[in-house]
Amino acid sequence: MSGFLGALRERLGEPGLLVGGDLAAYENDWRKRYVGRALAVARPASTGEVATVMRLCHEHRVAVVPQGGNTGLVGGSTPDDSGRQLVLSLTRMKRIREIDVANASLTAEAGCVLADVQAAAAGAGMLFPLSLAAEGSCTLGGNLATNAGGTQVLRYGNARELCLGLEVVTATGEVWQGLSGLRKDNTGYDLRDLFIGSEGTLGIITAATMKLYPVPKEKLTALAACGKLHDTVALLGLARERAGDALTGFEVMNRASLALVARELPQLVQPLAPAEWTVLLELSDAESAEHARGVFEGLLEAAFERGAVTDAAIAQNLEQAKAFWHLRESIPLAQAQAGLNIKHDISLPVSAIPGFVAEMDTALSTYMPGIEVIDFGHLGDGNLHYNVQAPRGVAPAEFLAAHEAAINERVYDAVQRRGGSISAEHGIGRLKREELQQRKDPTALALMRSIKRALDPLDLLNPGRLV
Ligand SMILES: Cc1cc2nc3c(=O)[nH]c(=O)nc-3n(C[C@H](O)[C@H](O)[C@H](O)COP(=O)(O)OP(=O)(O)OC[C@H]3O[C@@H](n4cnc5c(N)ncnc54)[C@H](O)[C@@H]3O)c2cc1C
Repeated sequence: MSGFLGALRERLGEPGLLVGGDLAAYENDWRKRYVGRALAVARPASTGEVATVMRLCHEHRVAVVPQGGNTGLVGGSTPDDSGRQLVLSLTRMKRIREIDVANASLTAEAGCVLADVQAAAAGAGMLFPLSLAAEGSCTLGGNLATNAGGTQVLRYGNARELCLGLEVVTATGEVWQGLSGLRKDNTGYDLRDLFIGSEGTLGIITAATMKLYPVPKEKLTALAACGKLHDTVALLGLARERAGDALTGFEVMNRASLALVARELPQLVQPLAPAEWTVLLELSDAESAEHARGVFEGLLEAAFERGAVTDAAIAQNLEQAKAFWHLRESIPLAQAQAGLNIKHDISLPVSAIPGFVAEMDTALSTYMPGIEVIDFGHLGDGNLHYNVQAPRGVAPAEFLAAHEAAINERVYDAVQRRGGSISAEHGIGRLKREELQQRKDPTALALMRSIKRALDPLDLLNPGRLV
C-alpha cells in the first residue's frame, strides 16, 4: 500500500491526503452506529484530481468509499473496519460554477454544502428548493447519490426531479461530462438517472446542474393539532383542494415525538398543547401575502368545522415560522441524544398510512409493552419515519441487538403488504442491504447487479453497499 499512498500524496499534495492521525470524523457515521477504519482519506480539489484518485485505485485495486457531509443514516458513507478502504471526501470541491437565471439553473460542485447552494440561488434572486434538517452539513453530491427528499418534495420533487445534468468520474477514472442544463434531451439511456440514488456504487458525482424556481412572494407556516391520524389525512386532502400547488410542506409528528423533543431539548418552545398528532403546514404563494393568508385561514377554519383540527397556531413572522420548522427538524437530534433506535424510513400510499400505523402500534406494544414509537415525517409524500425506541430503562444497544430483526420483519411485512417501500429517502447503504435482497423484485435486483458489473467490474466503488 505504501506505493499507492505515495502516488496519491504526489498527485494530491499535502492538503489532499490524510493518513493516520485522528480520522474519526470520516470513519464514523452520524448516528455512531458504524465505526470504521480507513486506509486514508483522499480530499481532491478538482474533477481532474478525482479522476486521478480513481485511476490509481483501479490500478492498485483499492476500494473507495465516496463521502460528502457524512450525514447519511444507513451506513453508506463510512469505511468498514478492514483498514483497506479509501475514503474519498468531496468536501474540498465546493465551487458554484454557474448560475443561469434565464435558464433557471445552477451548476455546483459535489462538495457544496446544501445550505450554501440555497444561499447562492437566493443571492441570484431564485429559489433552490431542496431542504432537509441536515442542510448545514450535507452536500449536493450526497443529496444526489441518495436521491434526497426532505421537506419540499410535495411541491418540487426530490433531488432526482431537481437535477438537469451531472458530471461523473467512473470507476476507471474517466470523466462523463453530462452537465447539461437542458430540460429536453432524448438521446438514449438516461445516465443521469442511473447515477442519482446509486449511493456511490456506480461513479463519483463531481458536479451537477440543478433547477431553480422563482422565490415565492409569501410563505406561511402553521401548526395544527389533530386527534387521529385519519384527521391528518383529511387535512391533507383539504389543503390540496384549497391550496393546490401552493402547499409546499405537510409534516406530521406524533405525541411521543414531541414529548421526546420536550425531554431532550427543553429549551424549544412548543406552541400547542400536546395532541395525538401535530401537523406542520407550509404554504408558499406566488400571488401576495394577503392572498396566502386568506387561503390559509379559510383552510384551517374549514378543518375546524369538519372536526379534523382541534387547535392551531399560524406563525406571525419569519422567526416563528423558523421555530415551528426547527421543532420538527429537531426530532432526529432528540432521538440521537436519547440513544440508538430502530429506524424505518418507509413509504406508503397516503391512504394506507392510518391502517399501517394502527396495525403496527398494536403489534409492537403486544410484542414488547413499553416500546415507544417515534413516528413523524413527510405525510404529504406518504413518507413516515416510524422509529422504534427501547422501553425506558432498557439499554438501547441491547434492545437493538435482541429485537431489531424481529421488529423489522413485522414493520416491513406490513409495509410490503400495502405496496410500500422499505426506503423512502435515506437509501439502502449497509443498514438495509440484506432486507433489500429479501424484498425487492428479483428481476429488478438482477438488472441492478448487471448494471453494477458493467460500470464497476472490480467492485471497487462502495463495495458491500446497496447491491
Ligand atoms: C438530522 C438529519 C436529518 C435528515 N433528514 C433527511 C431528509 O429529510 N430527507 C433525506 O432524504 N435525508 C435526510 N437525512 C439523510 C442525509 O442527510 C441525506 O441522505 C443526505 O442527502 C446525505 O448527504 P451527505 O453529503 O451527508 O452524504 P454522505 O452521508 O456523505 O453520503 C451518503 C451516500 O452517498 C454517497 N456519496 C456521497 N457523496 C457522493 C458523491 N459525490 N458521489 C457519489 N456518491 C456519493 C456515499 O458513499 C453514501 O453512500 C437526514 C440526516 C440527518 C442527520
